Order: sequence, then C-alpha cells, then structure tokens
Amino acid sequence: MVGGGAIGLGIAWRLAQRGRDVLVLDRAEPGSGASFHAAGMLAPITEATFGEDALLRLNLASAAAYPDFLRDLAAATGRSLQSGAPGTLFVALDRDQLEALERLYEFQRGLGLGVEWLRGSRCRELEPALHPAVRAGIGTREQEVDPRARAQVQVRDDERRHGVSRRSASAATSCRTFRPRSWAPRR
Ligand SMILES: Cc1cc2nc3c(=O)[nH]c(=O)nc-3n(C[C@H](O)[C@H](O)[C@H](O)COP(=O)(O)OP(=O)(O)OC[C@H]3O[C@@H](n4cnc5c(N)ncnc54)[C@H](O)[C@@H]3O)c2cc1C
Repeated sequence: MVGGGAIGLGIAWRLAQRGRDVLVLDRAEPGSGASFHAAGMLAPITEATFGEDALLRLNLASAAAYPDFLRDLAAATGRSLQSGAPGTLFVALDRDQLEALERLYEFQRGLGLGVEWLRGSRCRELEPALHPAVRAGIGTREQEVDPRARAQVQVRDDERRHGVSRRSASAATSCRTFRPRSWAPRR
C-alpha cells in the first residue's frame, strides 16, 4: 500500500482483518498528510452541489456506512471514536452570496436532503462567533470525526495485530496497477 493517510490506513486495516499481510509505505509519517489537517466533517449534504448527482449518491452512501466502520474500529480497539452530529451552517455574508445560497438551498431541498433555511439572527444564535453581517444560512445535521485520533487508533491496532507493517520515510517511485480477474469490468 502506498500512502498511510485515512484512505491507505483504512484499507490496510480492513485487509489485515481479513488475514492479509500488508506493508504500508509512506514518504513521511503515516497520518501526517491531508488527513492530519482535515476538519473531520462528514458532510455530503453541505457539499452537495449542481451537476454532481453521482458523487452525492456515493457521498451519502459513504456517510451512511461510517457509523458501522467506527463501531467495528471501537470493537477491535476498545477506543470509541463515536462521531458527533453537531450540525453544519453554510452562511451568506452579502447579497451575491445570499442569492447563490438561496439557489443552492432550493436545489438541495429538491433532492429531498435534510436542509433548513435559517435567518441571520438564528445562525448567530446557533454560532455566536459568526460575523454580525451574516444574512442567512443553510443548516444541516451531519457527522464529524476526529481524523487525527482515527489515524492513531488504526496505527496502534495495526501494531497489536502484526498484520500490517509500516515504513516511514519510504517514498514509492513507481506503481504497477494490479487488477484481479474477478474485478475486470464486464463487456
Ligand atoms: C485543511 C483541510 C481540511 C479538510 N477538511 C476535510 C473535512 O472536513 N472533511 C473531509 O471529508 N475531508 C476534508 N479534507 C480532505 C481530506 O483531508 C482528504 O480527502 C483525505 O485526508 C485524503 O486522505 P488520503 O489518505 O488520500 O491522503 P493523505 O492523508 O494526504 O495521505 C496520503 C499519504 O501518502 C503519502 N505519500 C504521498 N506520495 C507518496 C509516495 N510517492 N510514496 C509514499 N508515500 C506517499 C503522504 O506522505 C501521506 O501520508 C480536508 C483537507 C484539508 C487539507
């Protein structure tokens, strides 16, 4: 496996659970890439936008599967990373942003997504740190997870199981794609 971020560590962890021996190479330290800096929002609704219907379906399915993934991780490691759902606000600060936000809200509502239109005063009530100029917002309930804690838990569990070895400061310089016969697309 090349790269020990959220994606590589997650795949390595699942493969080790299925009895495979996995080697994760990382040119730096596992968990130190984009996954270290992410806010941890699991936000398919907030990020739903025009012309991305297929991506939205994938994102919704992925977010729906996430609680089971965290449950499996907690069962294996004894460490709960239970994801909260504190809610997300997507706000508009001026007239142009307000128009764009209204269009986005109608689009998201038309898709049946769980969004709520909130006046500026309601947004500030929910999040007092918001700028007084906030005109309105779209509110949703979405999950979050601490990406740094998630990486740590997976790395520790890998060490305990011995199914996954990791090598830091090991950059891959070329890759060969491997596709088992059963994955070949049907003609
Ligand atoms: C500021 C910020 C905020 C974000 N907030 C969110 C959010 O709230 N919600 C969300 O869903 N997403 C968020 N993201 C996006 C999210 O962080 C990424 O989509 C996710 O972390 C990607 O995981 P990854 O494993 O593919 O990449 P990474 O975590 O970057 O891992 C890739 C790893 O591969 C290693 N690597 C690269 N090249 C090589 C090589 N040639 N050989 C060996 N190793 C190599 C790197 O060192 C790194 O450790 C955010 C991103 C940023 C930057």
